[in-house]
Amino acid sequence: MTAFKEELKSRLVRYCEIDSQSDMDRPGAPSTECQHVILDLVVEELTEMGAADVVKTDYGTVIATIPGTTEGPTIGFLAHVDTAPQFNATGVKPRVIEGYNGGAISYPDDPELTLTPEDNPYLLEKIGDDIVTASGLTLLGADDKAGMAIVMTAARHLLENPDIKRPTIRVAFTPDEEIGRGVDDRLPRDLGVDFAYTFDGEDLGELVYETFSADFAVVTVKGVSIHPGWAKDKLVNAIHLAAKIVDTLPHVTMTPETTDGYQGFIHVVDCKGTADEMVVRFILRDFEMDGLEAKGALMRQVCETIAATEPRAKITCEISPQYRNMRYWLEDNMMPVDLARAAFDDLGITPKSVPIRGGTDGSRLTELGVPCPNLFTGMQNIHGPLEWVSVQDMEKATELCLKIAERAAKSA
Ligand SMILES: [Zn+2]
Repeated sequence: MTAFKEELKSRLVRYCEIDSQSDMDRPGAPSTECQHVILDLVVEELTEMGAADVVKTDYGTVIATIPGTTEGPTIGFLAHVDTAPQFNATGVKPRVIEGYNGGAISYPDDPELTLTPEDNPYLLEKIGDDIVTASGLTLLGADDKAGMAIVMTAARHLLENPDIKRPTIRVAFTPDEEIGRGVDDRLPRDLGVDFAYTFDGEDLGELVYETFSADFAVVTVKGVSIHPGWAKDKLVNAIHLAAKIVDTLPHVTMTPETTDGYQGFIHVVDCKGTADEMVVRFILRDFEMDGLEAKGALMRQVCETIAATEPRAKITCEISPQYRNMRYWLEDNMMPVDLARAAFDDLGITPKSVPIRGGTDGSRLTELGVPCPNLFTGMQNIHGPLEWVSVQDMEKATELCLKIAERAAKSA
């Protein structure tokens, strides 16, 4: 197969240099103006390579068609354009380390920082590969610009080679995945595919069709505010009550830092406010719905218990759904997973189907009727300054994308 390395490298660097961080606290789609820059670039590049029906929807997703040359199911390939809000993502300076030698990697903009094979055993499997990292002050944004580069490179290759047999393919680039708003309810209709894949996974071989089910909880504590000089027996401090709630919830179990595998958690993500009113936000995660519901019930119970100690305060706990484990739907129709497995086999890659302790755009898409497993890109240490990706892993993912299209044509 054609070598895609150089194209992937230059796409990844180009996309990573553009700031496209999403922001939970801003309304709108996309949540941040800066995401328009990369979305518009994608529109321009897709148009230039000859894709059909290129549109940027009014919810900020770019969609285009790679016309089919044969019968077969219509397949979607997706990646997200935004980067994570958890770490500085402005002014990313990607660096390509050609032919990684197996040693520690230092960072020009932060001498304290090193990426070592001791802490990252996966690096040792990548000796000789071209490794892309950031410069020390920012995340890299391979999540999910590696996915963007993979889908764009595969699209360009198919458009330039109309002799390659494939069914109609739709590609889509979504904003705001990192803040759980990547999939607008109109996307399934506008995408118009039988099933889809996101390229938003990590290690080579990842084929994920099991994700967390996720809820979001907002606890509001309204105290009684009064001048502290004459507050005796009157003031009710919302900060103390919010602290009690956080303190009463499990610490040594059921938190992200104390769980792994199939265990769920309650994670306090944000705590803001004043003595008058506090707003504390939580995310609840579990692979099973009954486990998720139990966590919601525990949160409500803790809030009620603390509320009972101080009747003058008003404490509310609002829980809303975010996404659901895609396995619930894929179990009924394993075709997209089986097709991907066959494509992995063709490439001699052993698929690894680990449950992922997170969600993807595919979780929500699957729930909305478009089965959508998640595939590897090679990205590692995401959402922080030590993020890196091997270009050779990305190349394998590009080949996988093309194999899936080819396999789907054969299956028709
Ligand atoms: Zn991602």
